Amino acid sequence: MQPTSRQPGPSTRLVHAGERATEYDGAVVLPVFRSAMYDESVSVDDQVVYIRYHNTPNHRAVAAKLAALEGCEDAVVLGSGMAAISSAVLSVVRSGDHVLAQHTLYGGTHALFTQDLPALGVEVEFVESDDPRDWNALRRDTTRLAYVEAISNPLLHVTDLEGIAEWARGAGLVSMIDATMTTPIGLQPTRMGFDLVVHSATKFLNGHSDIVAGAVLGSRELCRGVLHKAQHLGGSLDPDACAQLMRGMKTLALRWERQCATALDLARWLHEHPRVERVLYPGLASHPSHRRAEQWLNGFGALFAFDVGDAATARSLQDGLEYFTAAPSFGGVESLITRPAHTSHALLGTVARAERGIGDGLLRVAVGVEDVEDLRGDLQRALETL
Ligand SMILES: *Cc1c(COP(=O)(O)O)cnc(C)c1O
Repeated sequence: MQPTSRQPGPSTRLVHAGERATEYDGAVVLPVFRSAMYDESVSVDDQVVYIRYHNTPNHRAVAAKLAALEGCEDAVVLGSGMAAISSAVLSVVRSGDHVLAQHTLYGGTHALFTQDLPALGVEVEFVESDDPRDWNALRRDTTRLAYVEAISNPLLHVTDLEGIAEWARGAGLVSMIDATMTTPIGLQPTRMGFDLVVHSATKFLNGHSDIVAGAVLGSRELCRGVLHKAQHLGGSLDPDACAQLMRGMKTLALRWERQCATALDLARWLHEHPRVERVLYPGLASHPSHRRAEQWLNGFGALFAFDVGDAATARSLQDGLEYFTAAPSFGGVESLITRPAHTSHALLGTVARAERGIGDGLLRVAVGVEDVEDLRGDLQRALETL
């Protein structure tokens, strides 16, 4: 076959990158290699092949697919999103270092930053502002890392991603972004200047809510550091799960397109509904981050939040739904609805939640791939019975 000169599009890369069809006895799909260890005459980057070294054929294929999708040099695939985040962060910081981080972080990351890093002699300071000048004002000689998330949960705020990446580069810091919510289809942060991108592949990348996995993307040099740290910490992904992740990823672009379209449709519809006090979705012109999202994202995402006033009403709405399972998490083919005050932000307490705008009547929806008419009808029926 004549290779085409055009750089393949993201959907093509999702299907083909990282895999050489028919390399193994003509198999169209990469087989699962269930061997824990390999003959020592075989090596990858001068290392023997072993599952915990993240370098079996299944690891290499899914990592290559991710790197091709992002358009960066390298990727490491790990056993969970938190394994990706902890390995990436620990590959960059050491005792005595200072970290600046966005204040609205995923709960697990927040716990790592407030409990584990200080115990290792790393000080983390949270920044409430979006303005790189405010970040710069907090910078110290020991500051090593700047850490943000692409879209915050559950209010779906988009910080000044470009500004912070640019400032971090100028200040000689390593910049890291958790882009789980945008996926490499919605955003390629390395193009914006971020050094390392972390993903919980449990969410959109796998897309079927049946494995836990994570990934780190970036330059070859930084990924090598992450890999070495991950080999010591031991958070590797099983080859079966690698194969599942790779299968899930092949439909990512299709799912993302459908899920973004459905989320926009439902958010607009709820915005007009008399029982709904407010809707937060970056795709709505009323959302404070709308302009940034429009400028940077390909698709406004599959998550939105809406407020129905109080906890009892929110709970009965949740109970009245047929197609939205009451569960945290997101990015799967099934729609989910969660009350952040009861789940992800329960430990924060009522006062701190209210300060942040997370009311007891707030519901966060993660849209799946069901028919939009069914999801809208479901919400309509449940809202009518309130
Ligand atoms: C779920 C999630 C994580 C953690 O991922 P796990 O796969 O559960 O370890 C990290 N960051 C964000 C933004 C998440 O949504």
